[in-house]
Amino acid sequence: MSQTFALAIHGGAGTIRRSALTPEIEQATHAGLARALEAGSLILRDGGSSLDAVTAAVCALEDEPLFNAGCGAVFTSAGRQEMDAAVMNGADRRAGAVAGLFGPRNPIRAARAVMEASPHVMMIGEAAARIAREAGLPFEEASYFFTQNRWDALEETLALRARGETSSDAAVRHGTVGAVACDRHGNLAAATSTGGMTGKAPGRVGDTPVIGAGTLADDICAVSGTGHGEVFIRYGAAAEIAARMRHLGESLDAAADHVVHRVLAPNDGSGGLVAVDRHGNVALPFNSEGMYRGHVRSGEAPVTAIY
Ligand code: ASP
Repeated sequence: MSQTFALAIHGGAGTIRRSALTPEIEQATHAGLARALEAGSLILRDGGSSLDAVTAAVCALEDEPLFNAGCGAVFTSAGRQEMDAAVMNGADRRAGAVAGLFGPRNPIRAARAVMEASPHVMMIGEAAARIAREAGLPFEEASYFFTQNRWDALEETLALRARGETSSDAAVRHGTVGAVACDRHGNLAAATSTGGMTGKAPGRVGDTPVIGAGTLADDICAVSGTGHGEVFIRYGAAAEIAARMRHLGESLDAAADHVVHRVLAPNDGSGGLVAVDRHGNVALPFNSEGMYRGHVRSGEAPVTAIY
């Protein structure tokens, strides 16, 4: 148990206009990312598992209203919140995912309950909530999940839509949180959680809970994505990175860059991802103006960034 550990996280990608980011929000964003890095790296430092580390990091991000997941989730066109999340353990490829979920304080823990307490990989809606309830996870009332700026973003999106327009500010429309880690044993894990896209149709499911699209961990790499979910699904974004490394022998950097800039970008797939390999290398590419992100490796100081 000597190997390097590494953790990389994101809090969503998009057109994060500098003008819209007040110094207070910028500072709070860095602080939120730093708290998530701390939550995950505490576990990795002591020899804990990558699975526990990504779960802890994503829980911290879900508890931060600035990000579009958990208590900061965006609203559907019907004014409700439907959350998606997935977690995957690279060593044995066990995975759990939830879609269209409302109620559990931390959807990522509901995804983990699906993985650990059911024979299934993906559960939706009320059936997913039931598994979370049976696992004893905390639930919250609607008021806990309400944030005024997400509600304002929905009203703005619906008003634009009524005029046949869409917002040029992708960050208003979406976001997601995620984490990938390599622990001291060389085991990899990935976790992703989202409210989806503002004004999405009720029942719409994005790439986040789709294993191989927005979330993947195997024995080669772990990937968590954020961006235009439909494109991540159609191009199997996360699985494509693993396949390039496995079959072409590409490095993590080369494979992740290829998918973000050569596969997703030309196909209306704005966004980015965080990825880690079993040697503790990290990659955090994005093709949007910014991506809330951070990473830490054993023996190095944590880094957080937006642009
Ligand atoms: N990928 C998420 C979704 O499509 C949204 C995002 O990451 O911005 O649901």
